[in-house]
Amino acid sequence: MNDQQEAPMISAMHDSPATIEPNHFKYKSLSSWALNLFMGCVHGCRFCYVTDTSTRRQKGLLKPFGVNDPVQDWGSYVLVRPWIRTKFMASLLEAEQTHPGFLNADGNRAIILCSTTDPYQLIRNTDRAKQEQLNTHARWMLREALELIRDHSTLNVRILTRSPLAREDFDLFKTFGNRLLLGTSLPTLDPVLGRLYEPRVPAPAQRLKLLTDAHAAGINTFVAVAPVFPEVGYKGMLRIFNEVKKAQPWTIFMEPVNLRLGIAERIQREARKLGREIDMTPYTDTAAWAHYAIGALRDAERAAAEAGVADRLHLWPDHTDLRTAKVVKAQEDPKAYLAWLQGYWDRISEWPGTTTRNR
Ligand code: SF4
Repeated sequence: MNDQQEAPMISAMHDSPATIEPNHFKYKSLSSWALNLFMGCVHGCRFCYVTDTSTRRQKGLLKPFGVNDPVQDWGSYVLVRPWIRTKFMASLLEAEQTHPGFLNADGNRAIILCSTTDPYQLIRNTDRAKQEQLNTHARWMLREALELIRDHSTLNVRILTRSPLAREDFDLFKTFGNRLLLGTSLPTLDPVLGRLYEPRVPAPAQRLKLLTDAHAAGINTFVAVAPVFPEVGYKGMLRIFNEVKKAQPWTIFMEPVNLRLGIAERIQREARKLGREIDMTPYTDTAAWAHYAIGALRDAERAAAEAGVADRLHLWPDHTDLRTAKVVKAQEDPKAYLAWLQGYWDRISEWPGTTTRNR
């Protein structure tokens, strides 16, 4: 634990129950639905995009719990959703009965846990009894939801976490067979970069071990090398790919980081305290970021080829900033560039049992 983990935190039960909802991913091929067990996230990653998307919309729901600025205070609150079995089952039935024609083609009929928070968190509260109650409820609710999905539907499950706590549920994951993928986000193997960008998250080595242990236990895996920081570079990605391939991930997702300048400046200040510098060039304007992002995506392709995992690399090129007229025109072969982007936007990620591949 570090000092930030010790900081006071707002944690309580919310009154909005956990249900399965259509997700809002585009061009990610992660899932068709999401089950979010919490509002907020104790991990509080500095780059977290959730604050730009759903968090703002939750402002009214968070205010009664003392969260005045959900974006600014991100990482310092977690509201646990209550469990109402009838509501959860109704949402599960609705998902199960959704005609495939109404689903995003790349979602693999999967429910992701979670899309706007992490399913495995250690919740803190100054009241020890309350802390125990919240953590017990959260752990129980996760297992209960998984068992119901397994037994009352044919839907797939994608678990995405930054926490080795997921190890405690390996027994349950195994009962899903090919219907479940366990993945972790691993944007770097450098512990100093990890501390800078995701200061409250367990070290990269622990997440890598979670992945390799899951594979050894017979659980299907994937990895999100995301978001990749400029300091990781080609060599850093090559190292990650070489390490994660030991877990034979079905898909290796990769996305370059895109920080607001204010956040980058804050990370820079923290970096200097640790005797490091971070590369601020990508954050000066959209053209600079596009230049960085395209280079990082191309580097990922070269590194994946060198590591022998090119067949499972699934890039997430930004759908807005990388296809502006200016960016497209600046490419050596604009037509080939657009086709390259489109190939990844159309790509359907691998799912065990449906994807044939040499492993
Ligand atoms: S673990 Fe995920 S949801 Fe939580 S702060 Fe980090 S990026 Fe955001």
